[in-house]
Amino acid sequence: MATAYVYDPLYLKHDEPTHPENSRRLEQIMQHLRELGLQKRLRSIDARDATAEEVAAVHRPGYIEEIRAASEGSLGWLDMDTYVGPYSYAAALRAAGGLLQAVEAVFQGQAHNAFALVRPPGHHAVASRAMGFCLFNNVAIAARYALRELKLERVLIVDFDLHHGNGTQDAFYAEPTALYFSTHQYPHYPGTGHYQETGRGAGQGYTVDVPLSAGTGDLGYGRVSDEILVPVARRYQPQLILVSAGYDAHWADPLGGMLLSVSGYASMVRTLVALAEELCQGKLILTLEGGYNLEALAASVAATFAVLLGDEQVEDPLGPARHAEQPVDAVIHAVRRVHGLD
Ligand SMILES: [Zn+2]
Repeated sequence: MATAYVYDPLYLKHDEPTHPENSRRLEQIMQHLRELGLQKRLRSIDARDATAEEVAAVHRPGYIEEIRAASEGSLGWLDMDTYVGPYSYAAALRAAGGLLQAVEAVFQGQAHNAFALVRPPGHHAVASRAMGFCLFNNVAIAARYALRELKLERVLIVDFDLHHGNGTQDAFYAEPTALYFSTHQYPHYPGTGHYQETGRGAGQGYTVDVPLSAGTGDLGYGRVSDEILVPVARRYQPQLILVSAGYDAHWADPLGGMLLSVSGYASMVRTLVALAEELCQGKLILTLEGGYNLEALAASVAATFAVLLGDEQVEDPLGPARHAEQPVDAVIHAVRRVHGLD
């Protein structure tokens, strides 16, 4: 069965060319997918606008209105690094709705797995505030939709972006219906994501943060996948795996200090595909978050699609990092201990 993607030209209209999170990111991804002949192997899913109600399942109505009103003027700034322009509200609604369409396509059997190539990204956005280039929290909106509309009881959200997805963590911190698992550079923006953040109340134990030192690379991420993510996922038994797919942990990324390669990203996605096949009939849906070196971003997204399609080989035009990796033994030990995996 097919691997699907979601793309909409409206995603390019939220743009500030001097900002790292600009429309060229997505243009480069699409161009690279065409050049490699990957796009024609994929099923295209049309995006739609998320409804006010769907967005309000995660964000306060006053905040949604604030974004709508801010989009009526010329380009402005919601915080030091998050811009909003004339098309931002429309693009943000369609980004969230695009991911919802991907979820629908997989649950209706039109696709086996899917990757929503959306902008603006979402995982930093909290209930009533934009943060870190993010307006609406696409992955949280999709998880909430899967719980409410599809009546799921357990959604696993894996966030391999360089940064901690504070907004996503917040949205489900006190409930067990979504398990949030994140690897991230720590300490780093936005400052959250210590391994002692494990959830609250009924959500205790359903937030799994893996704070990694700058300099963590393919070997370290691979060990975290095998020694933390796999046992956590098997214990949780998700009915769907959603992924905040950020590619700013690549060694060439200008915003981060991690050492992942394209091949390293591909092996993480391979682990996710295997977990989805084992636990939830392959239901794996990714959504684009960060990634700011255009060549590394496009190559990593292409490698991700190749793995989703079942290809044995992926292309890694940038090659491996040229620095030695930081060890991960201490953090793996700490996370396994607080989550009772030992
Ligand atoms: Zn990021």
